[in-house]
Parts: sequence; structure tokens; C-alpha cells
Amino acid sequence: MHRPRRLRRTPALRNLVRETHLNARNLVLPLFVSEKLDRRRPIASMPGVFQLSVKEVVDEALAAQELGLQAILLFGIPAQKDDRASGAYAENGIVQEAIRAIKLKCPDLVIISDVCLCEYTSHGHCGVVHADRGNFHVLNDESVELLVKSALSHAAAGADIVAPSDMMDGRIGAIRSALDDTGFDQIAIMSYAAKFASAFYGPFREAAESPPQFGDRRSYQMDFANAKEALHEVALDIDEGADIIMVKPAMPYLDILWRVRERFGKPTAVYHVSGEYAMVKEAAEKGFLNERDAVLEIMTALKRAGADIVVTYWARELAKWLHE
Ligand SMILES: [Zn+2]
Repeated sequence: MHRPRRLRRTPALRNLVRETHLNARNLVLPLFVSEKLDRRRPIASMPGVFQLSVKEVVDEALAAQELGLQAILLFGIPAQKDDRASGAYAENGIVQEAIRAIKLKCPDLVIISDVCLCEYTSHGHCGVVHADRGNFHVLNDESVELLVKSALSHAAAGADIVAPSDMMDGRIGAIRSALDDTGFDQIAIMSYAAKFASAFYGPFREAAESPPQFGDRRSYQMDFANAKEALHEVALDIDEGADIIMVKPAMPYLDILWRVRERFGKPTAVYHVSGEYAMVKEAAEKGFLNERDAVLEIMTALKRAGADIVVTYWARELAKWLHE
């Protein structure tokens, strides 16, 4: 008779044979910085997550570093939006200011900057929109030009990694060559390579003030039914020069994560998104499950499925829990 239970008998035996270990060094904390605020504003749908002023985002970055975190992912909310997303690539834009301010206080912290247009466009789409007789089109190559300008401005401000999250075709190659041509060949690209059009982004849009004013994002984000296409998207981004590839969302896409990690062997990130966060928070608040136990299980599962890097709104709490 086989007795696998022998190695589950005590905590020490279980630790001895544990295959997957969480580490604060692989976590990335998303932070939202707003040009419109002097004081933090809570996001109603995401308890514990806030929009911050530049001064507060610096304090948060410092606090994160003291907890043992090494990387943040920065999103900006501008005071003004327009149809060309000009705040996204303004030299003194909110994200550019925040990057400079954080680098001054935390030079060793890895700053990953979100590169997209949806927080900065008046219509809330991730690219330039062309409307024609009741229909609208998100123009690919025109959008890529603005994404390139955004990425360059983040690099100039001091970002270590730029993270295009828009899903336009060809943007990784365009950003890579623009960075290389302007002396930023050491700035890495984390590509949102397989980003699915998902219902689980709902709360984020309140945090980033970026809901589309019309239509949806299904003409650029991926159909959630497609796995082979995700591998194709990842292959393209690697070919164009992505250093880290990302799958988003996380829990409903563990199969994608696993296949991407197995197939390409590249540093692979996963974004545990706002809706996934809100579900657990809400259930924990009602007493339906234990937040800490659930989060440790989820995060371990993401690593087990192949994630090297996990972007999560629980990064701070996890750093504390893992230290205890
Ligand atoms: Zn976007």
C-alpha cells in the first residue's frame, strides 16, 4: 500500500516537501497617483486601495520597500483628458512627476510604469478613436505612435520597466526600437501579452477613472475563449523584444499561464485583477472565508501555475504575512 499521508503528518514534514514558495521579492504592488488630489481617496469597490497624491505615492513606495517589496506598478490619473491622450506623454504629466519623485526617495525600488492611453483619453479607450456614422474604430498604428511617446517619457523620467497594457498590434517592437534609438536600451519592457477582455476589470476602472464612454474593448483585448491565440500573441511580443510577458487576469486563466510558462520559458508575470480582489474582499467581509488563508492559497496557486512575478493589490499584506 502507498501512503502519501506519511509526509503530511506534521507541519515540518509538510514544509520539507512543499514545492511552491511565495516570496515578497516576486510581488508587484500597483499604485494609483492622481493629479487631482491633495489627499488620498478610497476606491469604494476595492477596500484598502486608494488614489494618491504625488507626495502620498512616494510615502507608499517607501513603506512598500520597508516591508520587503521591490517593485511597484504605477498608474496615473490626469487632471485633464482629451481625445489625443496628451497627458500620457506630457513631460510634466502625473506619472512622469511621480516617477521622478519616487526615484529621488527610493532609487533602488523597481518602478514599472503602465503605458496606456485609456486613463488619459476623454472617451476612455486605449487608443485613438475614429468615429464614423455611429460606429467607432480604435486606430492601431496612430495609437502605437502615442504609446511610444508615452513609454519614452516614462523612461526619461526614470522608469526601470515600461508596461504597455493596451493590446495594439506591433507596439512592443515600436517601443523597443524607440527606446534603443534614444539611449534607453537598458529599460525593460513588461508586455501585457495575453490580456483578455474580462468582466473582472470592473473595479479597476473606478480606480483609474478609465471606463470607455461608449462600446467595449473587445476589438483589441482578447476573446476569453482563446488559448492558442494567447500563445500566438505572446510569441509576437517576445519576437518584438518583450523582456517579461504577462497574462491578465489571473485565476480564470491558470491554463494560459501554465502554457505560456512551459512553452516560452521567459520571465512570466500574472496580474491578479481588481474584480478578483473585490470578490475575496467582499466574501471575507461577510465572514464567508478567511482573507489571509484565501489569499495565500490564491497566490501560491498562481506561482504553482508558472508565474514568476505576481501583480497584486495584496502585495503589502502578503509581505507582512510572509514575514511572520
Ligand atoms: Zn488601457
